[in-house]
Amino acid sequence: MSDSAGAILTVDLGAVRRNYRAVCAAFSGAEVAGVVKANAYGLGIAAVAPALAREGCATFFVATAAEAFELRRLLPAVGIHVFDGVQPGEEADFAAQRIVPVLNSLQQIELWRAHARARGRALAADLHLDTGMARLGLDRDEQRRLLAHPDELTGIDLDAILSHLAVAEDPANPMNEDQRAAFADVAPGWPSRRLSLANSSGVFLGEAFHFDLARVGVALYGANPTPGLPSPIAQVIKLQGRILQVRSVDAARSVGYGATHRVSRPSRIATVALGYADGYPLAMSNLGTAFLDSHEIPVVGRVSMDLTTVDVTDLPEGLAAPGRLVDFIGENNTIDAVAGRAKTIPYTILTGLGRRLQRIYLED
Ligand SMILES: *Cc1c(COP(=O)(O)O)cnc(C)c1O
Repeated sequence: MSDSAGAILTVDLGAVRRNYRAVCAAFSGAEVAGVVKANAYGLGIAAVAPALAREGCATFFVATAAEAFELRRLLPAVGIHVFDGVQPGEEADFAAQRIVPVLNSLQQIELWRAHARARGRALAADLHLDTGMARLGLDRDEQRRLLAHPDELTGIDLDAILSHLAVAEDPANPMNEDQRAAFADVAPGWPSRRLSLANSSGVFLGEAFHFDLARVGVALYGANPTPGLPSPIAQVIKLQGRILQVRSVDAARSVGYGATHRVSRPSRIATVALGYADGYPLAMSNLGTAFLDSHEIPVVGRVSMDLTTVDVTDLPEGLAAPGRLVDFIGENNTIDAVAGRAKTIPYTILTGLGRRLQRIYLED
């Protein structure tokens, strides 16, 4: 670990692998696919996807074609599926690289069918049915039209029929059962190999939500898929910043932009090289806490682009010193706790982790 890095993101790939195993153990269907869109939720697809593959993950989902091509260079043999489907001009590269589009509309089905015909061979695809998310996928009318004209699927080798849950992290919400029932009603009517409904939280809604294939992202990266209950998942990331300076501030001063924190007693303030450009939320201004060893210290003043100030007045003398690393996310401050306090969701904390962070990957 370089002493010159201002801020460090440590990604525990062993924990990612253990989380994959934990989800597999909780899942009664045939296979758990790893969702590695958005650069593996900000953690780095080049490290995360091969680690998952080493753990036995053989099917991956990404959002875009560019992500699929990048993943194909990393993992020549795995199954790669693309949530956004295939766009005009991408068909040949998809087929050549054995990338499976999720077909979300009648237009995408027509495009893929035409390409299969041009190639003279069947091409694999998933089909997305909308059961309530109203974002992607065929609605009920389109499903009926397509089922009435099965020739429109000629040359398309249907792998998974999938749908996506809108409120899976809230088990008490009746919309889960509405979507499950709608999916169970229509999905088996298609000539596909397998059915897929559950995301991370969907796996923990119980076996009725499992079907054959789970598509799991955020739980692999350490977020609790069962909010409000003890997490079945291990923490994956540690976000740390290095103390640049410790200063004494007397009672007449304020700290940082906007002068939002007024010291009410003679204080010592440590300035840490970690800011919102690194992904530490602005919303943690005057609200977050950090840890130096086992000591909890409050964030005071506004989080700025490159710097965050913490109040170290109550720490033992000499503990807070330039060069020391302060933990902002980790075992003490979980990704869920930080997201909750910042009034956001763990997904935005993960995908917002900055480019400038020094990234360290731990394998077990
Ligand atoms: C992102 C995504 C997932 C993964 O969701 P998590 O909550 O991160 O497990 C699954 N399915 C679809 C359609 C997605 O867009």
